Amino acid sequence: MQEHLGLNRDEMVARYWRISGQIVQMKTVDGHCTFFRNGCSVHPGRPWRCAQWPLVPAILESKENFEIIKDSCPGIPTDVTYAEFVEALKNYLAEKFDEEDFLRSLE
Ligand code: SF4
Repeated sequence: MQEHLGLNRDEMVARYWRISGQIVQMKTVDGHCTFFRNGCSVHPGRPWRCAQWPLVPAILESKENFEIIKDSCPGIPTDVTYAEFVEALKNYLAEKFDEEDFLRSLE
């Protein structure tokens, strides 16, 4: 994102980021991400967490997370079950990340 916007870390913090401990979040405007303008205005440089959506590990933690994300994401088929999605997501994450790191992340 910094490279995409041509800004250094301090400029990102001053303009766009809200940092709490190890967590970096986008500042919000009118209740949504400051970069949202009829879609993501920094799409090619969006954060990895945004690029991961809706395949987020939080879905593995609870069915409730899955239902919330499913309701907000038109890309998830309405008839897919939680068990089916969890299996597909685990396979996807295992392919993307080192298997040991992945398994540790589920502990
Ligand atoms: S994809 Fe990420 S950076 Fe882009 S508008 Fe949405 S929350 Fe913001």
